[in-house]
Amino acid sequence: MTPTEQSESKAIEQVAQWLREARSAVAFTGAGISTESGIPDFRSPGGIWATSKPVYFDEFMASAEARYEYWRQKAIAHRDMARARPNVGHEVLARWETIGRLRAVITQNIDGLHQLAGSRQVLELHGTARRIACLDCGADYEPDPLVEQFLATDRVPLCAACGGRLKTATVSFGQSLPADVLERSVALARESDLFFVLGSSLVVEPAASLPRLARREGARLVIVNRDPTDQDATADVVLHQPIGRTLAAIDRALQHAS
Ligand SMILES: [Zn+2]
Repeated sequence: MTPTEQSESKAIEQVAQWLREARSAVAFTGAGISTESGIPDFRSPGGIWATSKPVYFDEFMASAEARYEYWRQKAIAHRDMARARPNVGHEVLARWETIGRLRAVITQNIDGLHQLAGSRQVLELHGTARRIACLDCGADYEPDPLVEQFLATDRVPLCAACGGRLKTATVSFGQSLPADVLERSVALARESDLFFVLGSSLVVEPAASLPRLARREGARLVIVNRDPTDQDATADVVLHQPIGRTLAAIDRALQHAS
């Protein structure tokens, strides 16, 4: 083992030990955990926003052209999401919840992969792309048939119940985060004694403030992210490594000693 590998494996043992002792461990996940499932980070060079402008919520509400552009982008994103399966990172988090080591996952992702892996306590800050909602009457739909309808007819589908505007159940630019989800996330961060940041660069809010809040209330902070973040300096352990592989290693260390 090289010195870097040695210090990494020591860090992994340490995190496994903290996880054994933790009474309220919480994981915060971002796009980085899902890129390992083949979902492009929409902000990255290969992502949809490298070539398309995101549609803001007020434009969506006001303009038929904006709704068409929104559905055009969503149909592309849906193809990636429909193919994606949870990876080992999602699976380890689900296992930790099952064995009572992890209290909840707070996620910025809209792909539903945590739930597919078996996680039950999942707080989706940006909603979910696995549902379509009518903004006029609140009716709720499966996305597959509506995306197919859009691709087949090249027309934006309308609500079958009221003829209203249909949109994925996600938070758009210019739309506020669901207050109840945000409130529960803040409470979880406050109460946590071990807080994982997995695959988020912590640049947008509330991503940036949740780990800070957890830290201020005494939690240990563990960051696993491909690139450095602004909070690396205040974290107890930082690993610039792939998430799946790292969580699998922590999981092995956890099982080994317990
Ligand atoms: Zn409706």
